[in-house]
Amino acid sequence: MIHYSCDMCGKGLLVDEEVRYIVKIEVYAAYDPMELTEEDLEEDHLNDIEKIYQQTENMSEEELQDDVYKCFRFDLCMTCQKQYLHDPLFRNVFRRSPNISPN
Ligand SMILES: [Zn+2]
Repeated sequence: MIHYSCDMCGKGLLVDEEVRYIVKIEVYAAYDPMELTEEDLEEDHLNDIEKIYQQTENMSEEELQDDVYKCFRFDLCMTCQKQYLHDPLFRNVFRRSPNISPN
């Protein structure tokens, strides 16, 4: 049997609690095709590609992937699920701690 525990408070799930909530967070770069103009298509992008290539040269494969797509999955108990829904982006946490920058 798989044992789940709440990723926020550590409480055992399906043991202490009957309900288990799953939080899935996907973070990925949004490319909006509507922003492309005809001028964009006519431009020579070889320089841009060269620039991007140089920027990525020193990055690890993991860093590169994080840049494009990242997925998180957490298990929560009912109490933490309620708390999480109040502040899913932890804005209040950022505001309270001067050491953590939201940027
Ligand atoms: Zn919890």
